Amino acid sequence: MPSIVILGAGVMGASVAWHLTSRGCRDVLLLDRGAAPGAGSTSRATGGFRAQYATAINVRLSLLARQKLLRFSEEVGGDCGYVQSGYLWLASSQTELDVLREARVIQHAEGLDEACAVTPDDVARINPAVVRDGILGGAYCPTDGFIRPLGILQGYLDGAVGQGATVQWGAEATGVERDAAGRVVAVTTRSGRVAADAVVNAAGAWAGELARGCGLDVPVTPLRRQVAVTVPTDVLPSSMPMTIFTGDGFHLRVRDGRVLLLWPTPGVPGAPFEMPVDSAWVDAVAGKARMRVPALAGVVVDREASWAGLYEMSPDRHAILGVAPGCPNLFLINGSSGHGVMHAPALGHLLAEVILDGAASTLDTTRLRPSRFAEGDWNAVSELL
Ligand SMILES: Cc1cc2nc3c(=O)[nH]c(=O)nc-3n(C[C@H](O)[C@H](O)[C@H](O)COP(=O)(O)OP(=O)(O)OC[C@H]3O[C@@H](n4cnc5c(N)ncnc54)[C@H](O)[C@@H]3O)c2cc1C
Repeated sequence: MPSIVILGAGVMGASVAWHLTSRGCRDVLLLDRGAAPGAGSTSRATGGFRAQYATAINVRLSLLARQKLLRFSEEVGGDCGYVQSGYLWLASSQTELDVLREARVIQHAEGLDEACAVTPDDVARINPAVVRDGILGGAYCPTDGFIRPLGILQGYLDGAVGQGATVQWGAEATGVERDAAGRVVAVTTRSGRVAADAVVNAAGAWAGELARGCGLDVPVTPLRRQVAVTVPTDVLPSSMPMTIFTGDGFHLRVRDGRVLLLWPTPGVPGAPFEMPVDSAWVDAVAGKARMRVPALAGVVVDREASWAGLYEMSPDRHAILGVAPGCPNLFLINGSSGHGVMHAPALGHLLAEVILDGAASTLDTTRLRPSRFAEGDWNAVSELL
C-alpha cells in the first residue's frame, strides 16, 4: 500500500483519511498547520444539509452523503447530528419560482421525490414565523436539515486514527518535491521533508495558495461568510427548517438555543483571507430578520458570539475532485464552495476510490474533474448556490 500524505485535516482531509484506512491503507499521514481540529472553515460552518441543488452532480453527492450520514454512528462512530428539519426556499417573484421549479425537475430526475413546490399557505404551515407578504411560494424538502460539522470532523479523525492513520498538528506544508517525470516524491513542511507516494490537497480555502507552492494552479479562492448570532432565545422552535429567501440569499436557522442569521456579501476588498465581522452588516442583517420574522423584533444580536469564516470557492461553485492536471500522484478535494461539510462524506469516499482504484465507481465524477476549467466545460451556476 502506498504512503499517502493528506495536507489539511478539516472535514475533507479527515473523510479521505477515514475512507482510505477503511480500505486497508495504514500509511496515511494528515498534516495540519492548526493546533487542533477545526482550525479552518469546518468549525465555522452553520451545519446545513440539503439535497435541493440545481445540478445533477450536487444532488447525487448529497444523496450519497445522506446514506452515509444515516449510518454514521455505526459505521464511523461519533455523532454527525443529522436531523431532518427540512429546507424551505421562499420566492417573491416569478423568476425565483422558475429557478426553484427548474432545479426541482433535476432533483426529481435524481430520485429526490420528496422535494416539492409550496404555496403561500404551505409556507405559513411549514414556518409560521415568516411574514407572508410578498411570498408567492417556494420549495421544500423534508429530508434536508442539519448536521454537526465538528461531530463529523471528529468522527472521521478518530476513526481514521483508530484504523492506523497519523495526524500531526502544527505542521504547515509549504510545497512538494517532484521528480523529472513530474510525480511528487515528498512534501516540504516548515520543519522538514516527508516522503510520499501520493499527496492529497485538502487545504480548504487555502488550497489555491498551497497549490501555488507546489507549482500547480488550483482555482480555489476564499470568500468571507459572516454569521450573526442572537442572544439565547426560545421565540423560534429548534425544529424550524432552514429558511432561505431565494432573492437575496438571506437565511436563518435555530442552533443551540440561538438564531443564526446569514446574508451573503462580498469579502473584504483586497484582503480575501481576512474575516472580520462587519458591524454595519450585522445591523443590516438584523434589520432584515426583524422585517421578515417579526418574532425576532425584540431579540438582539450577540456581537461577541457572531463570527465569520471562509468559503472555498471554485469558478463554477462545484467541487474539484480527482488527479491534479500535470501531476499524476497529487489529488484534489477542493472548492466545494460552501457545501463542504455536507458533501465531505461523499467526496472522501469518492476520492479514496480515485486514489486506490484509478477512478471513482460509486458515482461518475466526470463533472468534478479538475481539468474542466482549462477545457472550458464548466458546470452550470444557479441561484441555488
Ligand atoms: C460561515 C460558514 C457557514 C458554512 N455553512 C455550511 C453549511 O451549512 N453546510 C456545509 O456543508 N458547509 C458549510 N460551510 C462550508 C464548509 O465549512 C466548508 O465547505 C468545509 O468546512 C470545507 O472543509 P475543508 O476540510 O476543505 O476545509 P477546512 O475545514 O478549512 O480545513 C482545511 C484545513 O487545512 C489546513 N491547512 C491550510 N493550509 C495548510 C497548509 N499549508 N499546511 C497544512 N495545513 C493547512 C487548515 O488549518 C485547515 O484545518 C460554511 C462555511 C462558512 C465559512
